[in-house]
Amino acid sequence: MSLPDLPFNPAHCLISGTWRAPQAGETIALFDPSDGTELTQIARGRSEDIDAAVSTAQAALDGVWGKTTALERGRILTRIGQLVLENVELLAELEARDVGKPLTQARADAVALARYMEFYGGAADKVHGETIPYLDGYTVYTLREPHGVTGHIVPWNYPMQIIGRSVGAALTMGNAAVLKPAEEACLTALMFADIARQAGLPDGALNVVPGLGAEAGAALSSHTDVQHISFTGSVRTGALVQQAAGANVVPVTLELGGKSPQLVFEDANLEEALPFLVNAGIQNAGQTCSASSRILVHKSRYDEVVTAMSSRYEALSVGPAMDDCNLGPLISDRQKDIVTGFLKQGADLQIAAVGKIKSDAPKTGAYVAPHLLLCSDPDHPLAQQEIFGPVQVVIPFEDDADALKIANGTDYGLVASIWTQNGARQMRLAKTLKSGQVFINNYGAGGGVELPFGGVGKSGHGREKGFEALYGFSTLKTVAAKHG
Ligand code: NAD
Repeated sequence: MSLPDLPFNPAHCLISGTWRAPQAGETIALFDPSDGTELTQIARGRSEDIDAAVSTAQAALDGVWGKTTALERGRILTRIGQLVLENVELLAELEARDVGKPLTQARADAVALARYMEFYGGAADKVHGETIPYLDGYTVYTLREPHGVTGHIVPWNYPMQIIGRSVGAALTMGNAAVLKPAEEACLTALMFADIARQAGLPDGALNVVPGLGAEAGAALSSHTDVQHISFTGSVRTGALVQQAAGANVVPVTLELGGKSPQLVFEDANLEEALPFLVNAGIQNAGQTCSASSRILVHKSRYDEVVTAMSSRYEALSVGPAMDDCNLGPLISDRQKDIVTGFLKQGADLQIAAVGKIKSDAPKTGAYVAPHLLLCSDPDHPLAQQEIFGPVQVVIPFEDDADALKIANGTDYGLVASIWTQNGARQMRLAKTLKSGQVFINNYGAGGGVELPFGGVGKSGHGREKGFEALYGFSTLKTVAAKHG
């Protein structure tokens, strides 16, 4: 099936408001993971294209964009949000075809992208400094200023949502952005940039250079004229990006995934918990940084939870993104190999349930059936490592102390949730769980663009989403005036 008509050439980069071929004229094939066919060719940008994007971003800061008021930036973002909403169906189809994401989930991501623009559009003129009482004869105040040129390295799993939270916040604060989308999925990044252009974002305020991580990504993270880097992806690449930015003493926001637990206590309302226990693990075929891949259950409810989750698993269907099943394919054969490798490593674990791949799903698609596994050893590799596929382990615990020890016993700390009616336990665990977000009797709060998001430990550092991101995408200047 061919792609819908696009208002730009997908083999081009957007630099200074103009779509143009990468300087070396090279392209990369983009594949549809639902059937393995080639979707289109995208640009293979290299360091010379990143150089052009960074210098045009700096020119925008020195020109029209740098003089655009907070109010006007907010209006532009709001207009981008409106245009995103008008294009939800096209964006959803592009994301579904490109990422292999079921259409309903892709549509929700497009709406979330619009929501980021609305939220940040409204926030643009509401972030301000303060006055500070100081010595007699002084007036002291702080100014919130943009970093300058910001680099955004985005993965393939949630392009629209990650662009919304990172590029959206950066533009709100008056930075000029250079975006390097993932080579596996970048159509909605291109479409978003075109929408932003149509909405009146001045030339050079947002530039997009697709390309390989080791080429365009490395060139962006090591560029001496970039003043902030936002990265979402693997721990290994995040560490490389931080090292490269560190050489230029540039701040980095890293969002690196996790091994997020849900803790089900003896007094949990299982009926309420059940959809969250399963959906948080299998959404986007488990390729979610905040996927809940560990379900920790009090021993008194263990069998009940396993039985209830198993019957949901057995009803799950897996098929092409446009068929809108519960799960689509994984992003690529490479990712499928990683996940099936984990399943082999977990061959000693008892399988509680496996979902079904539709019999007519193309054999050339990157499908993996969702697996629910029983695991009594919290140190098992499948209970410790991020799988990034539709695999959840259910681990029993003895008491509150045991639950906390297991929950905190990985290198990660992105999201955790607690299912209990006991208020004191809720408060105690909310404080003691090592996690950037803790949810009580829910998981994920429907995405929550307003809620600061980010990790501790190997899940990364820095916060995106909400107002907190606006502080991260700006720098504080203190002005001390002595007037006597
Ligand atoms: P990755 O971290 O290598 O890629 C993410 C982004 O970084 C892409 O845009 C890529 O082009 C870029 N990149 C790659 N090498 C780079 C470099 N040297 N310098 C700068 N940028 C570079 O992830 P991947 O290879 O696509 O996936 C591998 C694993 O990473 C997955 O199995 C999963 O565990 C994890 N992952 C996590 C997230 C998340 O949301 N936290 C997203 C994608 C992948």
